[in-house]
Amino acid sequence: MNSDRQKGILYIVVPCYNEEEALEASATKLLDKLHKLTQKELISNKSRIVFVDDGSKDRTWEIIQELYKKNEEIKGLRFAHNRGHQNAILAGMMYSRKYCDYTITIDADLQQDIDAIERFIDAYNDGNEIVYGVRNSRNTDGIFKKFSATLFYKIMQLMGCDIYENSADYRLMSTKALNALAEYDEVNLFLRGIIPNIGLQSTVVHFDVFPRMQGKSKYSLSKMFTLAADGITSFSIKPIRMVFAMGILALLVGVGMIIHIIYEHYFGYTVSGWSSILMSIWVLGGAILLSLGIIGEYVGRNYLETKHRPRYFFWEILSRDK
Ligand code: UDP
Ligand code: MG
Repeated sequence: MNSDRQKGILYIVVPCYNEEEALEASATKLLDKLHKLTQKELISNKSRIVFVDDGSKDRTWEIIQELYKKNEEIKGLRFAHNRGHQNAILAGMMYSRKYCDYTITIDADLQQDIDAIERFIDAYNDGNEIVYGVRNSRNTDGIFKKFSATLFYKIMQLMGCDIYENSADYRLMSTKALNALAEYDEVNLFLRGIIPNIGLQSTVVHFDVFPRMQGKSKYSLSKMFTLAADGITSFSIKPIRMVFAMGILALLVGVGMIIHIIYEHYFGYTVSGWSSILMSIWVLGGAILLSLGIIGEYVGRNYLETKHRPRYFFWEILSRDK
């Protein structure tokens, strides 16, 4: 490892899930970038690209094997089954920290502008341990993704999570930061929220996002939903408090209703109470179900955390290092 920050060993970590269409083109571009950076003496020639195959069902792993055979800069890690983007990145970083000075994580479709890598490295050389990539705009996203992402970041900030709006999992982390990250052993993983929590010296690099060139998005709606739920529940117990507040509110309304009912009983026509009873059944029933859902979400996550299952296993590792 390098004690001087200049010419550090860079490991680029690339999570891949069913990326057979995109992988070869992306590997060529990344290798090209790595060579240029080495020539410019910005990084060490021991720098590598680590592809993490997140249990793909297509030819992704075969392609990684071929790339590994042809290029000594390439390494491959393989999960036995799909563990999700966050786990794939984490596994890649945790593997890499033994060999490198810093990692940069980037998506396999290279939607993120790889020319920002130089600026990431400059920021690292200036003494930052974490460099966040923040996207310039969401113009390449569809309306739904744009809307849901904005809503998600707003909710996260409201919940008190220290997150950069529009930050991506395109970021640089030094081994120091990675070692700190390794101490967080929660199963419900939301890296964008955890990493700012580490609190080491950091900065932000802005980058452009391009449309996906090959293949389709591997982030299904349900995967996006799980990520958002992980993010919110792993950072805050505010939703539970909100349920509590809602309960108090319902109770107050209930007291008001009792007064109203007593009044009606003595001075009004009781039969006319039909609509208000029905309404309160629906409103309260809804509130109870919602509250139970929120609490259930936390109980469920608690269950997963206490089991302490391993987050991933490597099925195969392609590496020339011992
Ligand atoms: N990915 C992964 N596991 C998954 C889903 C996605 O490793 O279960 C990877 C995928 O191969 C890509 C990155 O995560 O490298 C981002 O996925 P994608 O580009 O499909 O998401 P989008 O850009 O549409 O948000
Ligand atoms: Mg993408």
